[in-house]
Amino acid sequence: MSAQIVDGKAVAAEIRAELAEEVARMTADGDAPPSLAVVLCGDDPGSALYVRNKGRAAERAGVRFALHRPPAESTTGELVDLVRSLDADDDVDGILVQLPLPRQVDAAAVTECVSPGKDADGFHPYNFGRLAEGHPAEVAPCTPMGCMELLRRSGVEVRGSRAVVIGRSTIVGRPLALLLTNADATVTICHSRTRDLAATCREADILVAAVGRPHMVDASYVKPGAFVIDVGTTPQDGVVAGDVDRASVEPVAGWLTPVPGGVGPMTIAMLLRNTVALARARRRLARV
Ligand code: NAP
Repeated sequence: MSAQIVDGKAVAAEIRAELAEEVARMTADGDAPPSLAVVLCGDDPGSALYVRNKGRAAERAGVRFALHRPPAESTTGELVDLVRSLDADDDVDGILVQLPLPRQVDAAAVTECVSPGKDADGFHPYNFGRLAEGHPAEVAPCTPMGCMELLRRSGVEVRGSRAVVIGRSTIVGRPLALLLTNADATVTICHSRTRDLAATCREADILVAAVGRPHMVDASYVKPGAFVIDVGTTPQDGVVAGDVDRASVEPVAGWLTPVPGGVGPMTIAMLLRNTVALARARRRLARV
């Protein structure tokens, strides 16, 4: 047996095409296209590349994209003022503050100025709380939602399954564990203090590695036939390495998301989906 390799690039393209159709329907009804404002502050080359890719994907889906580039030496107060003004702007549906922010800036003070109704990357404590309460997610953190979409579009039955998530960050591990729980999986979260990690992972029908340690998950972690999602992306020797040792796991797993080309492309598609969902909700509210 050899795992089916899940093509995240193809799934993301399919989702972007669906969103483009939805945006076309919205504008045909006379509404303005959804708009996303991105704040990029500082000189991090990785962030600049992510933002460029987001801009390109947004434009292709018909989502208006406005990039704000305050100077790298901006203060917390200046960024707070900028985000507040975007938050108050009726023409803006979603706001994303690209992290990391320069060291002198209190990142939480800035991101918390984005109101829940404009929270394009789904990290706002209110939206996180809604997720924790088990409400259907209008918006949710993009990478975890991308993982759920890969499961759904692969036809995997999440309900009743055993899921193990390695990693408990607020960006990936925790929200993904909540999304899986809300989809009726029985979920275990593992982390650096988990004992007998491989044995716990071997119980999983769905195994997610969101750690950032290249190739740590080998066949000894994997139940035969499991759906293995590799979220890890670590630059190593000029390439991006995942957390899963593909050569070892591929003969055992039922499905495997590759790195690159698995979860990564889904993250941007989910950012656009969040933006369209926020726009839809705001237009609905404007009509009542
Ligand atoms: P993070 O904040 O560093 O969290 C890593 C988690 O892994 C922590 O919960 C940590 O446990 C756990 N961990 C570390 N060593 C471990 C070990 N030996 N055994 C078990 N658990 C261990 O990282 P993150 O932001 O969640 O990101 C995780 C990975 O996903 C990174 O490679 C990141 O680049 C990648 N990522 C990819 C995307 C994408 O779009 N593809 C998006 C986001 C992140 P403790 O809590 O005990 O420290």
